[in-house]
Amino acid sequence: MKNIKDYNLDKLKEELVSLGEKPYRAEQIFKWLYVDNVSSFDEMTNLSVELREKLKQDYTICTFGIIQKQESKDGTKKYLFDVLDGNAIETVLMEYHHGFSLCVSSQIGCKMGCKFCASTGIKFIRNLTSGEIVEQVLAVQRDQHIKISNIVFMGIGEPLDNYDNVINAIHIINHPKGLNIGARHISISTSGIVPKIYQLAEEELQCTLSISLHATTNEQRSKMMPVNNAYPLEELMRACRDYIQKTNKRISFEYALAKDNNETLEDAQRLVKLLKGMICHVNLIPINKIENGAFVKSSNENIMRFRDYLNDHGVVATIRRELGSDIDAACGQLRRKNLKEE
Ligand code: SAH
Repeated sequence: MKNIKDYNLDKLKEELVSLGEKPYRAEQIFKWLYVDNVSSFDEMTNLSVELREKLKQDYTICTFGIIQKQESKDGTKKYLFDVLDGNAIETVLMEYHHGFSLCVSSQIGCKMGCKFCASTGIKFIRNLTSGEIVEQVLAVQRDQHIKISNIVFMGIGEPLDNYDNVINAIHIINHPKGLNIGARHISISTSGIVPKIYQLAEEELQCTLSISLHATTNEQRSKMMPVNNAYPLEELMRACRDYIQKTNKRISFEYALAKDNNETLEDAQRLVKLLKGMICHVNLIPINKIENGAFVKSSNENIMRFRDYLNDHGVVATIRRELGSDIDAACGQLRRKNLKEE
């Protein structure tokens, strides 16, 4: 069976044509799926009964069950979804003054092995399909009766390691007849898979690219992020400069501050040097604690000192508000869960 949510509008038109239908049927189905958020073909009342029966034979409408929903005292909600194959993933809903932002997962588990992140340490199972990425948005909208306005690919997984499905999901999320979330309201965060950054620069997508930088020397960064051994800082920064030049878009650099690790003024100096002349923004994150984690959060004083140094030296830096840490929903705290283990 094929999951109908895996298809972008153009591909769905091709599917309908191959069933002997007119392409506009795909637009009707898209509206049922992404505007009305229905879970069955029988609800698609402007399609003939015959077509609905035909669709039922070949396609499913993947609809996640909610296994658990936790609410933080700051209002952040963490969902544990049953992805229907014995696995479960986490998705986090945050409310900001400008609307609702959803942090989606792109893989079940992660291969990257970042030492400070809880999504590591558990084995990689598989990529999520486009439909499963999109369904995270739909499932939360159904549950909360809200319209999500921002998507960040900062949940479990490395989005650029599941490139095709993530890009296809973005097309569905972004399409005016789909979820209609503007590309400028979609962020992809990567640990730094250099060849995919070059590829992304060619996509003509208007989404924001975030780079998980976290350190300013190869020695430091490799200790935190094994991906740095494959794609060291010089190569990463070259790819970032190329991306900015090609897309004319600002990159957001994530830098999680940990005590006695990457928080000194020398680190800040090196960061200024590294980012010199780039259109960018630095997001400082007080590193979140994870089980067995080797890193401890920097003090507020050190974080502010770091920020001030950057801002005084021409690099725009802000401190990310910590949301959801009391329910392990903050950056780096999400985990894959296997339903059979629990
Ligand atoms: N794999 C992607 C996206 C998932 S992580 C990436 O690496 O970018 C989303 C963000 O949370 C990344 O910037 C990541 O480095 C950061 N992060 C992971 N663990 C963290 C922790 N313990 N504290 C703070 N930020 C963390």
